[in-house]
Amino acid sequence: MTQPCLVCDSQPIFAWTDQHGEGYCIRCGTPYQLINGILGEGETYPRVNIKLDAIPVLRRYWEETSRGNGLGTWLAHPRSQGEDRVAFNEWCDEHPDELATANADRTEDE
Ligand SMILES: [Zn+2]
Repeated sequence: MTQPCLVCDSQPIFAWTDQHGEGYCIRCGTPYQLINGILGEGETYPRVNIKLDAIPVLRRYWEETSRGNGLGTWLAHPRSQGEDRVAFNEWCDEHPDELATANADRTEDE
């Protein structure tokens, strides 16, 4: 059984993005590497394709809006993903303090 989604806590159902082996949770939009990625020590599939220090921001967005974040690797966003990405970007613009906190937690080697 797959672990619950780190952002929406559901048992995730995935759809593919345009990056090889990457899918996104169809409920909240969070991308995961499902196959054919480069795993770090101790990592297994599905492995979230978002820096872990940004997960709390994505969780807050989900809790506030119940809307997908539109993240993931796309050459051209499908319409719903593109609209979700725009909405998420607007929310980020309105919450600069939360993003600064996530960025401050990043280490130099990431
Ligand atoms: Zn999810």
